[in-house]
Amino acid sequence: MHKGLIVQKFGGTSVADIQRIQKAAARVVSYKRKGYSLVVVVSALGDTTDELTALAGKINSMPAEREMDMLLSTGEQISAALLAMGIQKFGAKAISFTGGQVGIITDTSHTRARIIKINTDKIKEELNQGKIVIVAGFQGITLNQDITTLGRGGSDLTAVALAKVLDAEACEIYTDVEGVYTADPRIEPQARKIEYITYDEMLEMASAGAQVMQSRSIEVAKKFNIPIHVRSGFNYKTGTIITREVKRMEEVVVSGITLNRNETKITICNVPDRPGVAAKIFKRLAAAGINVDMIVQNVSHLRQTDISFTVKKADTLKVSRLIRGVAKDIKASDVLQDEDISRVSIIGVGMKSHPGVAATMFAALAENKINIEMISTSDISIYCIIKKRCAEKAVRVLHKRFGLAK
Ligand code: ADP
Ligand code: ASP
Ligand code: MG
Repeated sequence: MHKGLIVQKFGGTSVADIQRIQKAAARVVSYKRKGYSLVVVVSALGDTTDELTALAGKINSMPAEREMDMLLSTGEQISAALLAMGIQKFGAKAISFTGGQVGIITDTSHTRARIIKINTDKIKEELNQGKIVIVAGFQGITLNQDITTLGRGGSDLTAVALAKVLDAEACEIYTDVEGVYTADPRIEPQARKIEYITYDEMLEMASAGAQVMQSRSIEVAKKFNIPIHVRSGFNYKTGTIITREVKRMEEVVVSGITLNRNETKITICNVPDRPGVAAKIFKRLAAAGINVDMIVQNVSHLRQTDISFTVKKADTLKVSRLIRGVAKDIKASDVLQDEDISRVSIIGVGMKSHPGVAATMFAALAENKINIEMISTSDISIYCIIKKRCAEKAVRVLHKRFGLAK
């Protein structure tokens, strides 16, 4: 009756209140009774992380990142303990730990730390005693014993990383939708559940804003070839399998449409057009640990040019201060910031072999009077920056145009 190990991760909505934690506990216990060993990763209850972030903002608009980690990591500690209590109530053995307690060692980049290694001794010891091990997601500890967090959505990464080091038979991500869809089902009711999706497509969708999986967790899953099952925390249906290769009956050109409303567009005006200027700007951002998404440099007139790029909305204040400093140094005339934008993307491996996909996308947006402010591409995606008010419409228009509807 002894079966393998499963890592299960429950997202915020799946542990949003006591009833849901009880439901999650019941599911975990049912797997245990079937003979599986279980490691369960939890997110913070509901919107706790957002609430804690707002709280921090009330006392300091630029809180120290180390202190943010101290604060945010508490959310997951609460749900871990409550889930352990819920499981114990069902008569099964369970024990909860913080990331630090189970030896998830990270680097020192607070709020976006990388996992360096995971010590599995403690988890294995507890599993061997027949316990269900609950791990607070989204967090680790540095070699100096400072608590770190792994970036928003980081409990997915905790789950995938644990599945890897524990050589788990399966890694299940329980969330509030039934899997990965062709578009966010909250925006496009016609969206379809995708049965199988490749790491590359999922990675592209995640970094383009499909919140359902954290992109770094997919990078790790891809690197170690760990299949992920994304499914609903509210029923027992099969969800979406994220894996290396997908055999499809028909070739799909575009497999998903995504939207990212969490970016700000920064424009540096009248940048002198000479070698080394772009390097200076982006080196300064890199040194501050800022990830830049799209970069567009316009054609130069009179030896001057505008440079625009997008950054995460949460970084706006920091970037804006930095860039104003750089702008002075390089003698640019002005810095503009625009938060009223969204990025709409189309993603699909089939794009590599199909010409005309970009033209179709631009035409569909144009016919619906949606103006494109910036365009960028990778080999399996095309994305456009548009006004925020057109964003949801753009998703539905493109979803229909590329034949993805039910
Ligand atoms: P959890 O709290 O379980 O981690 P998240 O809120 O992080 O859940 O992610 C699930 C949400 O992702 C869904 O409620 C859905 O609105 C959103 N989402 C965006 N794009 C997609 C997509 N393509 N497929 C499924 N869900 C998506
Ligand atoms: N609670 C964290 C967040 O909201 C981590 C997670 O849920 O994965 O980003
Ligand atoms: Mg999530």
